[in-house]
Amino acid sequence: MNKELAEKLIGKCIELALNECEEGQYPLGAMVVDENGEIITSLCSNLNAGYDVSAHPEMVAIRQACEIKKDRYLKGCYLVTTLEPCPMCTSVAIWAKMKGIIFGASQNDAIEYSNTHPESKLSWRQITVPASYIIEHGTPRLELYDNVREEECKKLLDEEYVKMKKKRKTREI
Ligand SMILES: [Zn+2]
Repeated sequence: MNKELAEKLIGKCIELALNECEEGQYPLGAMVVDENGEIITSLCSNLNAGYDVSAHPEMVAIRQACEIKKDRYLKGCYLVTTLEPCPMCTSVAIWAKMKGIIFGASQNDAIEYSNTHPESKLSWRQITVPASYIIEHGTPRLELYDNVREEECKKLLDEEYVKMKKKRKTREI
């Protein structure tokens, strides 16, 4: 995975978060791609539509990719996501024997946003174990591309920004 491709893939995730997310949903984009960056599955968060608390977009993307490939393992594949995956999703990527994880905004960005925006309707609650820590303790050892286009991904935490972008219907990313 080279840096340019990682940045391009994060760009697609940002687009997903801005263009596909329904109002009231977390503006988060997630994809599973193969080692050439070909998209196997891509989606934005739909967590608030149901009762499955584990239906984080990364989890759903991994489940869908396994169904598509008819394989429990996603060897050679990467998980791409606009926000650092939580310990649950990072662990599932390891169980699926993925090749790596690419993420944009960090867990600390989400925590900082929550602390400075108590009025936010969306809770950016975190379990404060970074993806790197889980990866260090897992087998196989996944590649990690962290903080890719972090500043752009950080903006997605802000509901007002996302609303404004939706209104303008821009596709400039
Ligand atoms: Zn998660």
